[in-house]
Formats: sequence, structure tokens, C-alpha cells
Amino acid sequence: MKDNDNRTKEDIVEEMTKVVEQMKIDDLEERPELIDEYFDCSCCGQTKSYAGSIQYGEYRLCNDCVLLAEIGFALNKFKDINELIEAMEDKRLEEICNFIKQDELRHRN
Ligand SMILES: [Zn+2]
Repeated sequence: MKDNDNRTKEDIVEEMTKVVEQMKIDDLEERPELIDEYFDCSCCGQTKSYAGSIQYGEYRLCNDCVLLAEIGFALNKFKDINELIEAMEDKRLEEICNFIKQDELRHRN
């Protein structure tokens, strides 16, 4: 896309943020019950709302990760969703570690 050439990274991030936020708003307008529906995000590993989530192939991403994905694609940071999932592996591990740490703290007290 030639248009992309004139846009700065900041423009792209700003635009994507709006687009992805709007997805969540649209989802909730269409299906307000989504506000109470959660799933484990394939990307960040957190339990997130279905609202604004998107299925990419075999993965379902939360709204926050959709934003990461869309910005990444727009800036050519990665070519497909598998690369993002791999890149986020540390984040998922961190999430699991935090969970274990919190659990340990509870047991210690
Ligand atoms: Zn996520």
C-alpha cells in the first residue's frame, strides 16, 4: 500500500488503536452479554473479555493483543500470527510465573 509511505509509525499506532477500540465497542453494541464472557488469550495468556477479541487461524486473541497484532502487521514487524504468538511466549511465561508467585505468597502468609 502506497499510502503507508507517508504515515509515521505514530500515525499507524494511533489509527490502529482507534480501529481496535472500535471493534470492542461494536462487539458490545451487538452482543452486550459479551461483557461477562471470558477466555484465555492465546497470545498474552491472560483471562480476557470476548468483546473485541478476534480469531486468527487457530488462535483467539484478546482486544489488547489484537492491537499488538494489527500494529505489528501494519509496521511489518511480523508476517503472520505465529510469529507474534512465539514472540509473546515470554509474556505468557511471565503471566504463569506471576500466578505461581502470588499463589506462593498466599501460602506463606
Ligand atoms: Zn491477549
